[in-house]
Amino acid sequence: MSLNVNEIRSQFPILQRETATGARVVYLDSTATSQKPLAVIEAMNDYYRRSNANIHRGVHTLAEEATALYEEARVKVANFIHAPHPQQIIYTRNTTESINLVAYTWGRANLKMGDLVILTEMEHHSNLVPWHMLQAERDIRLEFIPVRADFTLDLDAYRALLEQGPKLVSFTHMSNVLGTINPAREIIRLAHDVGAVTVVDGAQSVPHFAVDVQDLDADFLGFSAHKMCGPTGIGALYGKMDLLDEMPPFLGGGDMIKEVKLRSFRPNTLPHKFEAGTPAIAEAVGFGAAVDYLLSVGMDAIAEHEHQITEYALDRLEEIPGVKLFGPTADKKGGVAAFTLDGVHPHDVAQILDRDGVAVRAGHHCAQPLHEKFGIPATSRASFYLYNTKDEVDMLVNGIYKVKELFG
Ligand code: PLP
Repeated sequence: MSLNVNEIRSQFPILQRETATGARVVYLDSTATSQKPLAVIEAMNDYYRRSNANIHRGVHTLAEEATALYEEARVKVANFIHAPHPQQIIYTRNTTESINLVAYTWGRANLKMGDLVILTEMEHHSNLVPWHMLQAERDIRLEFIPVRADFTLDLDAYRALLEQGPKLVSFTHMSNVLGTINPAREIIRLAHDVGAVTVVDGAQSVPHFAVDVQDLDADFLGFSAHKMCGPTGIGALYGKMDLLDEMPPFLGGGDMIKEVKLRSFRPNTLPHKFEAGTPAIAEAVGFGAAVDYLLSVGMDAIAEHEHQITEYALDRLEEIPGVKLFGPTADKKGGVAAFTLDGVHPHDVAQILDRDGVAVRAGHHCAQPLHEKFGIPATSRASFYLYNTKDEVDMLVNGIYKVKELFG
């Protein structure tokens, strides 16, 4: 299965522009956020032009249309990850908020002093800090599945941790630095064997390959629209029905209630119980359009394309003297290539590449503990999506040779 990259690129207006130096935009930063196709931009534009109104509260035509669009998008998002029911999709602002929602509601209702939560050493700060905050409040215990020398998780160490009877296992499906795709189904099965609840950080998996929550048997899964061709400001939390049903609400206010008295309230049914206040309506419409768009290209075709680009990028980057790559072999990872270049700070690498329009990210990529483990403050990171080409990888590689020349 192959995809027509030229055709795809033509649907992303931003890829047609030039930078201030007249260079073509070579966007290798989709792990941070993806670009948006016309289908998404136009869906949001149409919404504001034709249907804008507040949802769930009006009987007039526009309110009904806006509500229908908002809820239709939820159905699309639910189907995209094979959720049994759209009620199991809670709109959030992003993956970060999805994980915070679980920590805040499920965590506070179910975790007490001394309870064990297992995370991994390769987590994004979004899947660390919410648990740190809960630890400060509840004195829960945190343990971490180590990352091995081959940049994969040490599952033997995980099995040993499971013997301590964790209440929760929360882990990233795919690392945003190493690109490592973790064996989510197995991690979840082992957690369930000891009665632990699981949270999957799907920020980097859901945009890049087909994810089926029923097949994974995930209890919770969070992801962000902006990383999957959709807008910023909206994401989703999937949860198993019984868990979501039992959880107390997150934020309080309009829409999340069934009834309010001066001194009390009754929460609404799912999913509204977790969606207080006027939500990101146009963004939900854009989220739905992004899902339609990705499905029209085909998730397997996208994954295969990214695999080919990544394999090529790793081969070419490996050839460059002084480049050290962080991450497993291409067969175990998604479209991310984090690297250091001897004697040059990663920020300098990124800045010099930018002169030729090559956009990569430099820093700790919100995974400071992982970088600390490797004894480095930062890496440069190129990341790939459905619109990237081998030609762009060549531009990255040529750019790195230029950096080497500049730094002698
Ligand atoms: N988890 C991972 C693995 C990520 O890569 C990111 C973002 O880069 C996040 C969580 C947080 O996503 P967001 O900033 O959209 O909440």
